[in-house]
Amino acid sequence: MLSTTCNVLKRCASKTGSLGAVSCRLKHSLPDLKYDFNALEPYISADIMQLHHQKHHNTYVTNLNVAEEKLQEAIAKNDTSAIIALQPALKFNGGGHINHSIFWENLSPNGGGEPTGDLLAAINKDFGSFDAMKKQLVASTVAVQGSGWGWLGYNPGTGRLSVATCANQDPLQATTGLVPLFGIDVWEHAYYLQYKNVRPDYVSAIFNVANWDDVASRLAAAK
Ligand code: MN
Repeated sequence: MLSTTCNVLKRCASKTGSLGAVSCRLKHSLPDLKYDFNALEPYISADIMQLHHQKHHNTYVTNLNVAEEKLQEAIAKNDTSAIIALQPALKFNGGGHINHSIFWENLSPNGGGEPTGDLLAAINKDFGSFDAMKKQLVASTVAVQGSGWGWLGYNPGTGRLSVATCANQDPLQATTGLVPLFGIDVWEHAYYLQYKNVRPDYVSAIFNVANWDDVASRLAAAK
């Protein structure tokens, strides 16, 4: 999905990697929101949305591009130590870009309510009911220690949905193998300006703008 948020290409032309594959350098860019900053009010304020998208997400994009540039240089020099040293920056900034790109699409001013169709059937099968899934996702997400994310994910191995949490910007699929369907950002930058220290109110409120159509299409694509 990141291909939709990448600007092609910087220097794809004549370089070939060690395996003979064409070495392409993709430069990531901040995806546009499909709604205005104030569109999710009163549940998420315009101030939060603007800062979160324009500053926080944009910083992950900028720093991911820097890290990938350094990675290309390290690979070109065959500097294995430098390649390894870049992994934390790639995970943090790459995870931040992946996570937020999903998060914006998981939300909609026309969201809320309950899912329908195959998504609801899967939730009912694996959790018993929508309310039971919501209760588990809220409890797990509120309980994240420090900064991180709560997720509803899909396990391609078992065909089942499950709830998981990740610390920092650790991306769900690379960390757990679960395909991310619906994520809740519980970094303080996501809610503190409006909800102060009351994370549970923010996590509950976000269900009023949950875009279940987007979650359903992610499940369909994952199957
Ligand atoms: Mn965030």
